[in-house]
Amino acid sequence: MSQKISPQFIQTSLAASLTLGFQQGSFHRHAKLKGLNLLLHYEEGCLGRCQFCGLSRSRREGPRGKTFIRVDWPLYPLDEIIMRAKGKDQIHRVCISMITHPRALEDTLYVIQRLKMETDLYISILISPTLIHQNASLEAMKKAGADRVGIAIDAATPGLFDQLRGKGVEGPHQWDHYWKVVQMATSVFGKFYVGIHLIVGLGETEKEMIEAIQKGQDMGAHTHLFSFFPEKGSPMEDHSPPPLAQYRRIQLARWMINEGLGSIDRIKFDQVGRLIDFGIDVEPLIRLGEPFMTSGCPGRDGKVACNRPYGNERPSGPIRNFPFMPEAEDIEEIKKQLEDWKDGILE
Ligand code: SF4
Repeated sequence: MSQKISPQFIQTSLAASLTLGFQQGSFHRHAKLKGLNLLLHYEEGCLGRCQFCGLSRSRREGPRGKTFIRVDWPLYPLDEIIMRAKGKDQIHRVCISMITHPRALEDTLYVIQRLKMETDLYISILISPTLIHQNASLEAMKKAGADRVGIAIDAATPGLFDQLRGKGVEGPHQWDHYWKVVQMATSVFGKFYVGIHLIVGLGETEKEMIEAIQKGQDMGAHTHLFSFFPEKGSPMEDHSPPPLAQYRRIQLARWMINEGLGSIDRIKFDQVGRLIDFGIDVEPLIRLGEPFMTSGCPGRDGKVACNRPYGNERPSGPIRNFPFMPEAEDIEEIKKQLEDWKDGILE
């Protein structure tokens, strides 16, 4: 075999590489990975030009594909990954990220089939909507063994989407098409077997972000939330992550909407689109801690399996997406972070 490319080779997140024992190391605060994230790999990389992504063709330095959502993605043989994953009870789910490449659809089907035949893991696909034009592609994934799909809308408004992923950067992606694929996916996989990824901090207001979350909810897609992190070498390396108080408010609103406890109609915003009232008493929800955990596809126990430890921040903290249930001290910390808002203090 001359080239190390998919489908025979595939990248794993650093967390997956550690959990499968390819590399040695442990997670800060003993976080346990429950979902293996895999990423197709080709010499040409991803054809997208998304300004915030470490895989983008417009990345200015370093080897492409080295980082993607903040962590390293080493490359291993698929056979070896499957062999190691088999004996790991802690792993509930595997997710294959397609990337935008002409071979991605076909190779994704191959990887799904192998995983389905050789493991008992649940299988998600983070699909590339730009490559999908008919239900048949999604039906083939379902038939091969995938039970859920994720769609990385990422930017919360059509303007930001265009500016960061579409026409503004001569990129191939289109906002309307992405949402059309969300609709196709819910018709094939079923409502709430589809998730959308949204990244907080790309320049949207809180109101715009919550509108996107509500739009997903109304279509039958939960939101898997990310906090923007400036990827080194990406065109947005100098852009700051969103203030922590803003991220906490969005986490809480997302959880409330996705759990069916509230909706945007009851949330109040100020003139600059900042959330000022959730419309329900959120104190008990904050105490639960769960709203601040990583949101993603579930595992065998119905809890989030895709917990992506430290995918959004440095382990030294502060933790944005908790890969485990926040402890009492964490909740006190979260309350303080949220109170910055009550005092009208902006970070
Ligand atoms: S949330 Fe689901 S679709 Fe998104 S990366 Fe995790 S497993 Fe994949």
